[in-house]
Amino acid sequence: MSRPRIGLWLIGTRGGVASTALVGLAALKQQRMPPVGLVTELPLFAELDLPDWSDFVVGGHEIRDVSIFDEAMCLATQSRAIEPELVLRARSELDAIDRRVCWGTLHGVGSTITQLADNEVPRQENPREAVERIQQDLQAFAAAEDLEHVIVVNVASTEPAIDSSRLPAEWDKFEKLLDAEECPLPASSLYAIAVLELGCSYINFTPALGSTPAAFDQLVRRRATRHMGCDGKTGETLMKSVLGPMFAHRHLDVMSWVGHNIFGNLDGRVLDDPANKQAKVASKDHLLREILGYAPQTHVSIEHIASLGDWKTAWDHIHFRGFLGTPMTLQFIWQGCDSLLAAPLVLDMARLADAARRRGEIGTLTFLASFFKSPRGVDEQGFIRQFHLLESWVQRASAGPK
Ligand code: NAD
Repeated sequence: MSRPRIGLWLIGTRGGVASTALVGLAALKQQRMPPVGLVTELPLFAELDLPDWSDFVVGGHEIRDVSIFDEAMCLATQSRAIEPELVLRARSELDAIDRRVCWGTLHGVGSTITQLADNEVPRQENPREAVERIQQDLQAFAAAEDLEHVIVVNVASTEPAIDSSRLPAEWDKFEKLLDAEECPLPASSLYAIAVLELGCSYINFTPALGSTPAAFDQLVRRRATRHMGCDGKTGETLMKSVLGPMFAHRHLDVMSWVGHNIFGNLDGRVLDDPANKQAKVASKDHLLREILGYAPQTHVSIEHIASLGDWKTAWDHIHFRGFLGTPMTLQFIWQGCDSLLAAPLVLDMARLADAARRRGEIGTLTFLASFFKSPRGVDEQGFIRQFHLLESWVQRASAGPK
């Protein structure tokens, strides 16, 4: 019997995270790389019915007229983050994916992202027309490739934050925003509507609004599909979610936590715009007060330093008080390659979302909490406890059907 074909549709297909994930996927299909960094390749997952890497067919939406191969080559030659050989050997696969890429939407993305876009990206369509066009692209992809399931992962640039507090909580009212004279929804939410209405799975790897509003729960249930977000937890915030519980469990009093982040890739360039940066800073900053149960003084800075390319340095200074009130300090320096930390998580979550679909699971995929800075539907922010959610799910899923 032939294996099922699974679609992986990346919004932001030619960005750093996407192109790294695609070089990695090609290398995994060619069995040319050890699976280090992939959570689903841990022994824990051995009994789980996961798709093979070779089951995935990739397409996506983009706004820039560049090639995935060239973007991946930049990561190899400019950032020296990937072996050029791996990119060269992936070329035919990357070029095939490029041919499946469709123009995205720029609705509500702000001026910094709009400036990146090619002139051909549609600018005149209204939000409903944009949703319909996105759906046509996804349906054409699924039909042309004979796909059993499509998982859409948003790895597009971080949009400016919007005030979502007044958005309607009922889906029928929320959906009408598409026809409003001033539709407040950003592109990430238009994609989410399009994807979930079709019954595809949706994962938001960015801090953008996406499917965060409560009304999406009704849509997801009506269409019997699944979603999760938001903002992948890959570096400095991953450290916060590991170290924060340590301070809490030893009853050490964190007085301040300052984190400075510098990096030089395109994501950093977009985050240099204060409107876009605000969404990311908020996403990196809320964990500590939730883990500690009080609010130490915190500061998060993000600066674009072009010469660093994809290499990110985070310097964190944690000032805490111990027994007898004595102040002490922990400092750490995290030097990671941004796209390489994020890319395997995208691949892992595509596999896990498909496993959840095979089990008939619908709703918010809370067992994926450990992958996110702001996990939808989960209050727990400590990494190890979040990982226990994943372990319990794997044990249940490995034991058989739901
Ligand atoms: P990037 O800037 O390299 O790539 C983003 C891509 O999205 C670009 O190719 C851009 O042209 C495209 N894009 C922008 N707006 C679009 C739209 N409306 N429709 C379709 N495509 C669009 O960024 P990246 O480093 O690949 O990161 C991708 C996203 O993941 C960012 O939002 C980032 O904040 C988030 N993220 C990254 C990491 C990490 O790299 N470690 C961790 C957590 C979250």
